[in-house]
Amino acid sequence: MSQSSEASGESSIDQTEEPQAIDDIRRSQHWPPSSLYVVATPIGNRHDISSRALQVLQAVDLIAAEDTRHSSVLTGHFTIDTPMIACHDHNEAAACKTVLERLATGQCVALISDAGTPLISDPGYRIVKTVRENGYQVVPVPGACALICALSASGLPTDRFSFEGFLPAKSEARQKRLQSLADAYRTLVFYEAPHRIVATLQAMELAFGGGREAVFARELTKRYETIMDGTLAQLAERVAADRNQQRGEMVILVRGAGADEEEKSALEQEAERVLKILLADLPAKQAATLAVQLTGLKKNYLYQRAIELSSQS
Ligand code: SAM
Repeated sequence: MSQSSEASGESSIDQTEEPQAIDDIRRSQHWPPSSLYVVATPIGNRHDISSRALQVLQAVDLIAAEDTRHSSVLTGHFTIDTPMIACHDHNEAAACKTVLERLATGQCVALISDAGTPLISDPGYRIVKTVRENGYQVVPVPGACALICALSASGLPTDRFSFEGFLPAKSEARQKRLQSLADAYRTLVFYEAPHRIVATLQAMELAFGGGREAVFARELTKRYETIMDGTLAQLAERVAADRNQQRGEMVILVRGAGADEEEKSALEQEAERVLKILLADLPAKQAATLAVQLTGLKKNYLYQRAIELSSQS
């Protein structure tokens, strides 16, 4: 089990940035009218906001924010004075109406959440869906996202992964969900809250087996950033024993059950289907020879399987 060093970057910067004139910003990039900009903000380190995101937040007519007080700290830091409205799970319908009214008059609106990419375990789905249904453009302004940040540094396979978000809070439902993922071949990525982390790692150990490789990524981009890898049994024990590891924001990544297994079983099923058709008219040896050309699998394997299938019929 290894652990990265702590403290990768402070979550504050010293100098404020001069806002660019809105007309300059609008001239400097493609700026379609009546558009909703979905803008990613940092997940800890303020330096992780892109200059395009800052330009967009400055130049739009309105910002729809998950929590206006929280986001005012960020916009204040960058001396962005665009008016803001709240847009969270409990007022999304009303916020949606306001946004549509603004877009109807040719204005542009930015959507932001408290941290990271809006809609990723954050509000905004309804607004984006409605805005698109009403024929307006939705423009993504990419940036930080905890799941991608964690995955990129995890050392686990990234060619195929699934984001599982937060698990159900109730233990029975959580165990059921985990059990349904136990045979998945892809890397699994979960968000978790600090007060549930110990129980969740133990539940994962139960569902996936203590030997399954995993990564625990905590406080990414912040002072106490920690990226720990090991088996689920090791991680569960280590986090349970150290209260500091139960603090802050966290992502859990679990290696899949084995991509090779799944691919192998799909090929074997195909070989079986082909052999059964051929064996209806041909002896095992000829069926196996043709099956090699049809499936690309090894002749020895196909011949052996053809003999087994013939003896079963
Ligand atoms: N929209 C955000 C994103 O793009 O990642 C996610 C918002 S969700 C409400 C918050 C969860 O994301 C946290 O409970 C944690 O699981 C994860 N998270 C956010 N920031 C993080 C960070 N700096 N380090 C580790 N996990 C983080």
